[in-house]
Amino acid sequence: MSARSGSLEPTLNREFELDQQGRIFAEYIWIGGNGRDLRCKTKVLDKMPKSVDDLPIWNYDGSSTGQAPGHDSEVLIKPVAMYKDPFRGGNNILVLTATYTPNDDGSMRPLTVVEDLASVNGVSGNNTRDAAAAIFADPKVAEQELWYGIEQEYTLFEADKVTPLGWPKNGYPAPQGPYYCSAGTENAFGRDIAEAHMRACVYAGINISGINAEVMAGQWEYQVGPCEGIAAGDQLIVSRYIMYRVCEKYNVVVSFEPKPMKGDWNGAGCHTNFSTKDFRDKDLQFSYTPVDGPFKGKEQKGAFGKMIEALEKMGQVAKEHIQLYGADNHLRLTGKHETADMDSWSYGVANRGASIRIPRQTFHQGYGYLEDRRPASNMDPYVVTSKLAKTILL
Ligand code: ADP
Ligand code: MN
Ligand code: MN
Ligand code: MN
Ligand code: MN
Repeated sequence: MSARSGSLEPTLNREFELDQQGRIFAEYIWIGGNGRDLRCKTKVLDKMPKSVDDLPIWNYDGSSTGQAPGHDSEVLIKPVAMYKDPFRGGNNILVLTATYTPNDDGSMRPLTVVEDLASVNGVSGNNTRDAAAAIFADPKVAEQELWYGIEQEYTLFEADKVTPLGWPKNGYPAPQGPYYCSAGTENAFGRDIAEAHMRACVYAGINISGINAEVMAGQWEYQVGPCEGIAAGDQLIVSRYIMYRVCEKYNVVVSFEPKPMKGDWNGAGCHTNFSTKDFRDKDLQFSYTPVDGPFKGKEQKGAFGKMIEALEKMGQVAKEHIQLYGADNHLRLTGKHETADMDSWSYGVANRGASIRIPRQTFHQGYGYLEDRRPASNMDPYVVTSKLAKTILL
């Protein structure tokens, strides 16, 4: 007989099986002070909210996230979207919120962080969602039902934060080539994380549309979309949050930085595929003759004409947009590694070295969508999606 008596069943983790007495665990999520950090805390509710409007406004200590001074530290968080919680399961929810600063009269205004932490290339701890939502609510934008499909690339690191999965310590793996869409122990590193994340997203209600291993060892991609309007930004933020949470379980560190490894290694982007109702309309009556680009001086009809018109509008503000497409994007947009140079503007059919790629199928059928290849993996999706909408439609 062992010295231990009674049940030999492990008691570890049994509390996770306990009945939760009808309570709802609501995980409130918000964007922290550097715009990349996603923060969260749990609120226990007495009943399941019918919609996001039933959820209470809450607050947190903004002086601990770099978003408010200590003497006036409260940041208010207002629920804007809710999803099933894939980690707790059951009757529990993830609650995406937007951040506000309280006014003296009891009202509130969208959070803008103190000057020295202000926006870096569109990435900030500010509430960028309200301005984006206003653009999507404009009738000229709303009636065009903008769809976005965002390809989120990311890099998985060991807990040391310097060694990508699959890389030797203090060294390099074999050159790029075998890793993209790979299978096999020697080439695919971290598949369980990509897979667990996809399944968690589907459970949550995120419109994830696929995953693949990327060109650099330890780098992966998932796509979210098509999602309409502000939902694209909401779902991308929550998908990143889910990735952080999945990685906790594997003691792996995820990076959304656009050039995590210097040298001859692909960076990480957030290609943003988009379409208006007109782009998708195969019967659209429209004609446009571009003044520049690969179709210069040649009349373009229907939905394709609409796309070329949109591209000419985007070209006018390309310099302004690129400044908002993610921090450290200049390290990635070098003209190498399937990118266009940061300072250039171009579009082309099936061209992965252009700023914008017109998918071959879109070109052939004459309707479809465009791919903006410039946004960095750490871009703010509210900024990028709303800038595109504004440029094309307002
Ligand atoms: P790539 O060929 O560049 O790797 P992906 O297949 O990774 O492209 O991603 C394409 C994304 O575009 C997907 O998220 C898909 O859902 C989205 N998409 C497809 N059709 C449309 C459309 N009409 N408008 C916007 N996004 C779309
Ligand atoms: Mn406290
Ligand atoms: Mn892709
Ligand atoms: Mn990719
Ligand atoms: Mn792409």
